[in-house]
Amino acid sequence: MKKLIKKSILNFSSYDAKRDLTGTVLDANENYRDYFKVYKDEIIEELSKLSINRYPEFDGGSLRDALADYAGLQPSNIIIGNGSDELISIIVNSFIDNGDFIVTASPTFSMYEIYGKIAGGRTIYIDSDENFNVNPEDIIKSANENKAKIVFVCNPNNPTGNIFKEEELIKIIEGVSSLVVIDEAYFEFLGETVISKVDKYKNLIVLRTMSKAFGLAGGRIGYGASSKEITDILLSVKPPYNMNSISTAYGLVFLRHRDEILKDVIKIIERREKLYRELKNSKEIKVYKSGANFLLIEVKDSEKVFNRLLNKNIRVRKYGRGKLKNYLRITIGSEEINENLINLIRGGYFDPEV
Ligand code: PMP
Repeated sequence: MKKLIKKSILNFSSYDAKRDLTGTVLDANENYRDYFKVYKDEIIEELSKLSINRYPEFDGGSLRDALADYAGLQPSNIIIGNGSDELISIIVNSFIDNGDFIVTASPTFSMYEIYGKIAGGRTIYIDSDENFNVNPEDIIKSANENKAKIVFVCNPNNPTGNIFKEEELIKIIEGVSSLVVIDEAYFEFLGETVISKVDKYKNLIVLRTMSKAFGLAGGRIGYGASSKEITDILLSVKPPYNMNSISTAYGLVFLRHRDEILKDVIKIIERREKLYRELKNSKEIKVYKSGANFLLIEVKDSEKVFNRLLNKNIRVRKYGRGKLKNYLRITIGSEEINENLINLIRGGYFDPEV
């Protein structure tokens, strides 16, 4: 069988997706709230309008209109994906030929490289400084020298939470001949976006998702915004019925209630800042400023702290390799979860020597 497999995926192993969802789940940057419980009647009503024996609309229909309205764009600027993960795959498959280069920062979201590899592309990582900041000039230089087809910029960045300023992003977009994909999966927790620039810059795609702020990770709704020209290319590559009608119904109801949901986002941001201050006060922890719904911390022994938290039924994301040795990423949850974490920090729980 091995000789039949595409060379680019020979050493792949499947994404480790097995998760324990008991206790306090802070390992995947999800929203801790389940809005089904809040909008149940409306969701059921929306679901009952469906003809589930019929295929969904090719372009997402009314969900596309609603996402365009939320983004301040036209529906012709929007493509919907089965999560923004699928859109990364569609973008890479639309632009990367065998041997083409992708440029991105390090560390960042791993799926850019993984989908790049599947397509036969090669990813060049631009190193960040000790605070995980990346110099836009370094990205521009590498993209131009290597004639990169795509530059991926995750803003805010997962897993560091780092932010590029708008002028830095514009510098990159204007400074390269590559397609520039700005992944704004965590946009709502930052409040800054370049989405309005997609008609001005014909090499720009902005990716967003309803998995984070909107609490719809299980619904798998991601969307991309770009000029009509790029959007049409992506639409020509996507599977015809990549969005299912059930998720679409959820998406419509959640977007209708966006003002309420975005009030919860403000609370999450406040908790993030409170936890940041607490972690900053702790000598044994290094914490990084974040524009997302999580905080990255460096501890003396991440394995030990991870297991201690697990003993308390708190699940965070452990890294532990390379540049991220001894780093943990903690998703921001409810007030109660935050207070619990703060008490553990004060009790020396994050210091392996205590
Ligand atoms: N981009 C970034 C930066 C992410 O962190 C994630 C999810 N972890 C995604 C994209 C994919 O999100 P989804 O497929 O759920 O839309």
